[in-house]
Amino acid sequence: MTLPFQTDLMLIDGQWRATADGSTLPVEDPSTGLEIGRLARGNAADVDAAVCAARAALDGAWGRLTALERGRRLAELGRAVLAQADMLAALEVRDVGKPASQARADVIALARYLEFYGGAADKLHGTTIPYLADYTIYTLREPHGVTGHIIPWNYPMQIIGRSVGAALAAGNAVVIKPAEEASLTTLAFARLAMQAGFPAGSVNVVPGLGDEAGAALSAHPGVNHLSFTGSVEVGIAVQSAAARHVAPVTLELGGKSPQLVFDDADLDAAIPVLVRAGLQNTGQTCSASSRLLVQRGVYDRVVEALVGRYRALRAGPAGQDLDLGPLISATQLQRVRGLLAAGLGAGAELLAAGEVVNDAPAGGHYLAPALLGGVRADQPLAQEELFGPVQVVLPFDTEEEAVALANGTRFGLVAGAWTRDAGRQHRLVRRLRAGQVFLNDYGAAGGVELPFGGVGWSGHGREKGFEALYGFTTVKTVAARHR
Ligand code: NAD
Repeated sequence: MTLPFQTDLMLIDGQWRATADGSTLPVEDPSTGLEIGRLARGNAADVDAAVCAARAALDGAWGRLTALERGRRLAELGRAVLAQADMLAALEVRDVGKPASQARADVIALARYLEFYGGAADKLHGTTIPYLADYTIYTLREPHGVTGHIIPWNYPMQIIGRSVGAALAAGNAVVIKPAEEASLTTLAFARLAMQAGFPAGSVNVVPGLGDEAGAALSAHPGVNHLSFTGSVEVGIAVQSAAARHVAPVTLELGGKSPQLVFDDADLDAAIPVLVRAGLQNTGQTCSASSRLLVQRGVYDRVVEALVGRYRALRAGPAGQDLDLGPLISATQLQRVRGLLAAGLGAGAELLAAGEVVNDAPAGGHYLAPALLGGVRADQPLAQEELFGPVQVVLPFDTEEEAVALANGTRFGLVAGAWTRDAGRQHRLVRRLRAGQVFLNDYGAAGGVELPFGGVGWSGHGREKGFEALYGFTTVKTVAARHR
């Protein structure tokens, strides 16, 4: 497939242009390891131009649009995304190595976010507040202004939908820094946005490296809010840079999310979800359920069923649409392999593994999915985010112990519990330290309407649903004295 548009350009102020110094980066297909194109390598000067364009849009055509008009443009963009579903999914298959059906699901999710936030734009309003007799008090929800969006490589379309979609609905002008490993669908999205009538400067995209374009965006004093999804280390750097100009930050930093399976669980319903929610997108999902905590009474049965499923799993080129694709890069493959080897060296037991298909190209970044037992709760395999196709199973005896294990990492993004006991369900909901709790299901962060985000080292702030709109606005209180 030749790429459907010129990919080595940035979008600034409605114009597609090369970087100020003309430098570019490679686009790699993770299924083959081959270069398939080039990206603009944006730098601080490009970021500055984009931030200035966004500010000008707020002071100009974009800032003058009513909420209804912003909503209509978002809805129109959502329809354009659906109309281009084949093109967008094909790009994600090549760029992220995402199996074709998972890439298509991301396109549908992006369109749904745009539909949701398009519909929500004119339903976001302030309140009136009873006060002294001779006052009328009301609040206005206003956009922050220029919002910066630093996007990871694992779900570019979904994260654009939930952060950029909400920011635009609320009236902000955006500067997007996509991940250097996966920028193509962001560029395609921006092309569609221009066609859907977003005024020049309302949507800007500066691809490039994290420590160049990303760092410049985090540090730019003209950015009024930053939304970051990615690693803890970089999240801390982004928040520190934003603190220097007192800009609020939303951080979504991943997790080590557990699913708890109690003796009374509906195992037929649970088993497929236990595996799928851990391995979706080859385990490169912030909300992946990488820890399976299983009560002793059903432990052997659950492990036997998981082993059967793992042995049937196949990883291979994204275009073949198997259970798993490649990992995003050689670096990521090396990282996950290293953590896995260290864990096995420290006593972990490989309970079962899937396979990499024979015709997978040698240059692709493949890893057979692995199910591990014999891991202690304080070991790195049970504590660190691997971001690969690996799940660990740990037994527990009591509800108390299950909660202690579930809450026993520095993260707190998602938790799932499988039990038919209603009293226990409500106790768990209160006690599990996570931004989302699923009962008798595990959504892998599904549901555009559902607020999503973490506690602890999983980050702070909420995206998705109406909460994201609140996060992309600031409240102004108006006090009118009756004189
Ligand atoms: P990362 O945090 O390095 O990159 C995420 C985004 O931040 C990219 O757009 C990158 O260009 C940008 N970035 C990098 N350095 C920056 C800097 N100094 N200032 C501003 N922006 C910067 O993540 P990664 O290297 O792609 O992956 C490493 C690990 O991060 C993964 O193994 C995984 O554990 C975690 N991760 C989590 C998520 C998530 O959804 N929560 C997504 C991707 C990665």
